[in-house]
Amino acid sequence: MRKPIIAGNWKMFKKLSEAVQFVDEVKGQVPAASKVDAVICAPFLFLPTLVEATKGTDLKIGAQNMHFELEGAFTGEVSPSQLADVDVQYVVLGHSERREYFNETDEAVNKKAHAAFENGLTPIICCGETLEEREAGQTVSKVSTQVTEALKGLSKEQVIQSVIAYEPIWAIGTGKTATAEEANETCGEIRSAISEAFGADVADQVRIQYGGSVKPGNIAELLSMEHIDGALVGGASLEPASYLQLLEAG
Ligand code: 13P
Repeated sequence: MRKPIIAGNWKMFKKLSEAVQFVDEVKGQVPAASKVDAVICAPFLFLPTLVEATKGTDLKIGAQNMHFELEGAFTGEVSPSQLADVDVQYVVLGHSERREYFNETDEAVNKKAHAAFENGLTPIICCGETLEEREAGQTVSKVSTQVTEALKGLSKEQVIQSVIAYEPIWAIGTGKTATAEEANETCGEIRSAISEAFGADVADQVRIQYGGSVKPGNIAELLSMEHIDGALVGGASLEPASYLQLLEAG
C-alpha cells in the first residue's frame, strides 16, 4: 500500500510573514504522518524559518529546486548540502517551469536526483507533456524518457524512495485538469517504464503524484485511481483552508 503524499508548490508566491502565518495556522490540523505525507515546497528564502516553525509537527518542508554541486562559484544558486543543513526534507526537481524558463535538462535533473539522495533529501521528480506533444501521441514517450533519465544510476532503494510528479503542462494553472482516467493512464505508463528499468517490485512501491489544477473539488477522484498516489498542487495550496481540504482527501 502506497501512502499518499500531498505537496503544495508555492512557486514564487507569498511574503515571509504570510508563509509563517500559513504554517502556524495549518500545522496543528495536518492529518497524522502515518496517514498522509504533507509537504509545503516554499521559496528558498523562507525555508529555515518554516522548518523551525514546523519542528515536531507532521507538516514537512521542501525546496522547489537546487543545484547539483555541493558548493562552488555558482552565483545565485543553492546547494543540496545547504538545504540539508537547515533540515529541509524534500526538493522538487525538473518542474516544467524550470525546464521551460531556466533550460533545465534531463541530465541536470539526473545529477540533482543523485545529489538529493547523497544529502538525505527526497526528490519530487517532475515530468509532463505539452498540449502539442499530447495531440501528436507523444505523451508516453516524453514522460517515460524524462522519468527514466532522471532516475538513471540510482539504486533500487533510492528509486523506491523517489516521488514522481506527473504534471501535464497544459493542465498547470489553466483550470484544465486531465480527467482522472487520463491522469491514471499516464501514471500507469510511468510505472511501467520504471518497472522495465528497475523491476516490478520497485515500480509497485514508487509514489506517483498528479499535478495540474488539482483542487479540493477534484482531488478525491484523482486519488481514487490505481496509479495516483498523491498530488503536487500550485494555486490551491496557497490558502490554509484549501490546503487542509486537500490533505483530508489523502
Ligand atoms: P496548479 O495547481 O496551480 O495548476 O499548479 C500545478 C503545479 O505546477 C504544481 O507544481
